[in-house]
Parts: sequence; structure tokens; C-alpha cells
Amino acid sequence: MNDHAMQSATPASALLTRLQQQGFSLSTTPDNELQVRPASVLDDGLRAAIAQHKPALIALLQGGEVLADDRRRCRDCYHLQTAGNCSMAALGRLPGVPRWYLPAKDVQGRCHLFCALPY
Ligand code: SF4
Repeated sequence: MNDHAMQSATPASALLTRLQQQGFSLSTTPDNELQVRPASVLDDGLRAAIAQHKPALIALLQGGEVLADDRRRCRDCYHLQTAGNCSMAALGRLPGVPRWYLPAKDVQGRCHLFCALPY
């Protein structure tokens, strides 16, 4: 997003863009909770801004309008097992990969079975 776009964006979409540019990943859970990761490095200012714009951030994320980058990392996915394999692949639910599939956990990609870990 260029400077002009940033200036014309709503406060919530500008905040979302800023967080994403800083490397944060934002998503919503099936019960409409906002997830920001890594939450451990959010400072007080960002936490307050997120709290202030939480409903609008959730709406933006669910509308899919502002997610310029919807890629996710397997390490942020509930289905990545401690052994490094993907439980969805093990169940045969990921077409084109073997059941013992060991995804590159730090590489960003798109997976329709991604399920965000709660923070
Ligand atoms: S379901 Fe998709 S995103 Fe999740 S661990 Fe498996 S391959 Fe990665």
C-alpha cells in the first residue's frame, strides 16, 4: 500500500496494514475472535490500538478486502504436529501430498485447511 492509500484508509485498515508490515499475522477464529501473532511482542500501544479497533479489524479480516497477503505458516496452524507432520495430510485430506507430509513450517503459503492456533 502506498502513502496515498494509507492516508485514505480507515483507521482500522491503516492499523491492519501497519501490523502486517511489522510482520504480525492477523486472523479470526470460527467463533469470531481476533488473533494476532506473535502476540508476545505486541507493545502496550499496539494492544490498545487493536482493542480500540477490534470489531472493525474483525470485519475487515472476514470481509477479505484488506488481506493483501493471506498466506500462513504451518507453524501457526493447529494441524501441525510436534513431530513436524501435518495431521490433515495424515488423514488423507490434503490432496497431492503423502500422508507422512512434513511441511516447511516457516514458509508462508496458502492452505485451505489452515486452522489458527489460539494465542
Ligand atoms: S493443514 Fe495446511 S497449514 Fe495446517 S499444518 Fe497442514 S499443510 Fe500446514
